Amino acid sequence: MKTTWMRAAAALFLVNQLFFSAPVVTRAQDATATTQAATLDGYTPDESAAERALEDRFRAVPRADGAREHLRQLTKEAHLAGTPEDYQTALYVRDRLREYGLSAELREYQVLLPYPRTPTLLELVAPRRERLALKEAAIPEDPTSSSPKIVPLYNGYSATGDVTAPLVYVNYGLPADYDALKKLNVDVRGKIVIARYGHSYRGVKARVAEENGAVGCIIYSDPADDGYMQGDVYPQGPWRPETSAQRGSVQYGFIYPGDPLTPGTPAIPGTPRISREQAASLPKLPVQPISYGDARRLLEPLRGPVRPNGFQGGLPFPYHVGGTPDVRVHLKTDMDIRTATIWDVIARIEGDAEKDRWLVLGNHRDAWVFGAVDPNSGTAALLELARGFGELLKQGWKPRRTIYLCSWDAEEQGLIGSTEWAEENANDLKEKAVAYLNVDVAVAGPNYSASSTPTLWRLIRAATRDVRDPKTGKSVYQAWQEHEREGQPEADTEAGTSPREARIDPLGFGSDYTAFLEHLGVTSLDMGFGGDYGVYHSAYDSFTWMSKFGDPSFAYHAAMAQLWGTIALRLADAPALPHDYGDYADQIRDFVNETVKTAQRRKLADSFDAKAILDAAKELSDEAARTRAQRDELLDTVARSRVRADDTHPRAVARLRKLNDSLLAAERALTDPTGLRGRPWYQHQIYAPGFYTGYAAQPLPDLRQAIDDRNTANAREAAQRIAAAIRRAAQALRDGRESN
Ligand SMILES: [Zn+2]
Repeated sequence: MKTTWMRAAAALFLVNQLFFSAPVVTRAQDATATTQAATLDGYTPDESAAERALEDRFRAVPRADGAREHLRQLTKEAHLAGTPEDYQTALYVRDRLREYGLSAELREYQVLLPYPRTPTLLELVAPRRERLALKEAAIPEDPTSSSPKIVPLYNGYSATGDVTAPLVYVNYGLPADYDALKKLNVDVRGKIVIARYGHSYRGVKARVAEENGAVGCIIYSDPADDGYMQGDVYPQGPWRPETSAQRGSVQYGFIYPGDPLTPGTPAIPGTPRISREQAASLPKLPVQPISYGDARRLLEPLRGPVRPNGFQGGLPFPYHVGGTPDVRVHLKTDMDIRTATIWDVIARIEGDAEKDRWLVLGNHRDAWVFGAVDPNSGTAALLELARGFGELLKQGWKPRRTIYLCSWDAEEQGLIGSTEWAEENANDLKEKAVAYLNVDVAVAGPNYSASSTPTLWRLIRAATRDVRDPKTGKSVYQAWQEHEREGQPEADTEAGTSPREARIDPLGFGSDYTAFLEHLGVTSLDMGFGGDYGVYHSAYDSFTWMSKFGDPSFAYHAAMAQLWGTIALRLADAPALPHDYGDYADQIRDFVNETVKTAQRRKLADSFDAKAILDAAKELSDEAARTRAQRDELLDTVARSRVRADDTHPRAVARLRKLNDSLLAAERALTDPTGLRGRPWYQHQIYAPGFYTGYAAQPLPDLRQAIDDRNTANAREAAQRIAAAIRRAAQALRDGRESN
């Protein structure tokens, strides 16, 4: 489960998998951020200078060789969630945090976790009998690839099943693919489907197969998307070799993530559990991932119609869709889905003036196998960041606000460790959380990308300007912007036009920010350095792969620690929070306009009141501008009162706090406690995963869903609720200001 992977991959083969891209920000204010010594947003000039000096001291600490050593230790053994090896990594993280001077504790949860009881049996039974290997080959150059503890290939929360049926190739296994098959009169009811990975979350493929009446679902990595058509395969190159398959959860996390038996509540002793039959996040059919080497044995004999548009992959024969009785397969899965203990590691750095305001940083630690890229590049960065914070603490620094550093467990099965912690601390987080900063994959290559709520766009762009990109020596921002421009058509990069701001994507589903943003309404970001990453969720995502391809010098690990820490310091220490709702209103307007276009194409534009949402967005935009103006005034008052040493200072500070709280309340106001239609756990009215979009966000989720369903009553109601949420956010900002 990973968005960073999707982003890394997007550049390569999942072009335009996001429905919306963030709008271009061309405001005059942004130009000032390019000046190195510019006053930090939310600081007085004096405080800004002190903070910049503090940041410099911090950024001098994270080291490449430190990150390399962490990664070596964390990836020695496979450490699937809930195993003794996972526990060892929790102790490693806890002990390093303590060594650096931070207080850190384990937090346990008892959750439902999926393991294979026996390896899956998959065989072709007609036209000939052939059992598939379903095993990633040991590679002599990669010592860990021969470990006996590598978990067999499986999909987390696949049902146990034993089915024999004709096989149908369903392309990416999404609704449009099934529509194409229906036009060919190919029915998948009672059949086993084989889908290729890509274009959505694998759990969506399982769900759509189930909805269409399939009795089993095989998911494979096609070489066109994820293999030799991208380049040399491992160990010659970074791409997926013939026997490698992508493990991964098929939990229906778009209904709710986290422990399947305790939605909305923490999985601790005493919490009532629902039954497995009641758990809407659990698939009911057997699902199995396979390699393209194995898939070839199944796809080559298929007959029936030849490749509808877009169905052909990279194997060397024309793809037929099958569904005929002469090609049949036998799939037998045997899963052990049981309650197991998981271990989050939570470190807390007590704040000073505002210790009851929290900044939360998180990365998951558990992996399908060794997880060098996903997720332990992020763990290594987190530990180097912690070492930096530890140094600052030794020098006498105390953050204004309390900082949490979290090492989550069981993300891979369904964002479980973060979701349970967020649910356990829901009331505190709703009151106190300033932001959640997620890094899952810190490094798969050199290309920076970010997703966030628009509140943090300015901050991300400003911070990336102050961290050096190891390869180019330019700022991370500049390298990011230039890399993005390379992939754009000429027209956009004409001489004379000022370069676009680098794009920041909307958050969807796929890493540990989900509970914070989409359940609780906490402003969030997710970021990483991507690249040619072809070993996702395989046994080859190893220390050797990272050392050869991902980040041989480990300089990008250190850069991520510097960047993550810089953003954290600015948020933890700023007298005035930098959250910007002007950008948020712009983003909402873009979402609405996109949605209106889609509705017009479907002749549904009259079914809802788009103007009410746009008016609410305008109101939010106006309130944001007033809040920013008052904030700058108050900062000015604080700065001037310092000079005069008069008593306006404490009053201005108190008013700033109220203003800050209104910036948190505005994001919270975008949630609705009744939740989204059919999935009450998801409460944010602007951001959620779609039922079918997988990792990608489906902005204005209920409205988009209603339009997809052609349900005009739902569309009308969803639009009203979205407009009301935006108006509540505007009201929250208004409430935060006092008239002078
Ligand atoms: Zn991950």
